[in-house]
Amino acid sequence: MTDSRIALVTGAGRGIGAGIARRLAGDGLDLALVDLTAPGIDAVAAQVRAAGRRAVAITADVSDRGAVFAAVDAAVAELGGLDVVVNNAGIAQVGPVADVTPEELRRLFAVNVDGVLWGIQAAAASFQARGVRGKIINASSIAGHEGFEMLGAYSATKFAVRAFTQAAAKEYASAGITVNAYCPGVVGTDMWVEIDRRFAELTGAAVGETYEKFVGGIALGRAQTPEDVAAYVSYLAGPDSDYMTGQAGLIDGGLVYR
Ligand code: NAP
Repeated sequence: MTDSRIALVTGAGRGIGAGIARRLAGDGLDLALVDLTAPGIDAVAAQVRAAGRRAVAITADVSDRGAVFAAVDAAVAELGGLDVVVNNAGIAQVGPVADVTPEELRRLFAVNVDGVLWGIQAAAASFQARGVRGKIINASSIAGHEGFEMLGAYSATKFAVRAFTQAAAKEYASAGITVNAYCPGVVGTDMWVEIDRRFAELTGAAVGETYEKFVGGIALGRAQTPEDVAAYVSYLAGPDSDYMTGQAGLIDGGLVYR
């Protein structure tokens, strides 16, 4: 399928975001790639161009509302439109509920929740100003459906993403804008390397043990790849999901059942 639609993806420099950007380029979309730092998105932009689509790389911190609105405006100015916004950027934190500090909690929420909210606001404002029946797609998680041990604060942010996804879906439906979320399971990205390392530090588990334990619980018997997640986001970004809004679908190989 090729089309002339344009998507913006945050956290697109590596991991799941990079996988989503490559998949959407393969689907025929042009891409605005947003990340904290330039090297990752510059490399992904080169891959998108090699796939025959246009790409712009925009550095922005998603926790900064003004920066997110500016990134959306820059995407429209440089690519001539915007139809899909994927609020993918996120960070993790590992530790027992008893030890979560105010600073850790603020930073987690600033990136994972504020960042998604600013993305929803900026996307919807841009879609409405241009009369576009756009699609907003947010990163939640299995941890947005179940609070995980040692991942309580992170889980709280991902539950909050589901709340904004549902409320925004209801508020923007009359404008023809859909809002959905994707909920991956255990994806072998840098985020899981860090989660596993912190579990090892805090619990005495061997490095790699926590990751293997989580992967061992997956019914389909293997860890998830960014491409597994991107295939679902491709569906959420495309016309086949036009009748779907306010959902936060699990795509986890069979790990959390709702
Ligand atoms: P990752 O490998 O750690 O990559 C995260 C990306 O987000 C990086 O490119 C990072 O940029 C960027 N980023 C972080 N903070 C940012 C900020 N304030 N502003 C802009 N960009 C920022 O993570 P991932 O595994 O791909 O995860 C992507 C999303 O999926 C996250 O929301 C995560 O919570 C969610 N998720 C992941 C898993 C999993 O198993 N990995 C499971 C469920 C849900 P830098 O490279 O510059 O740091």
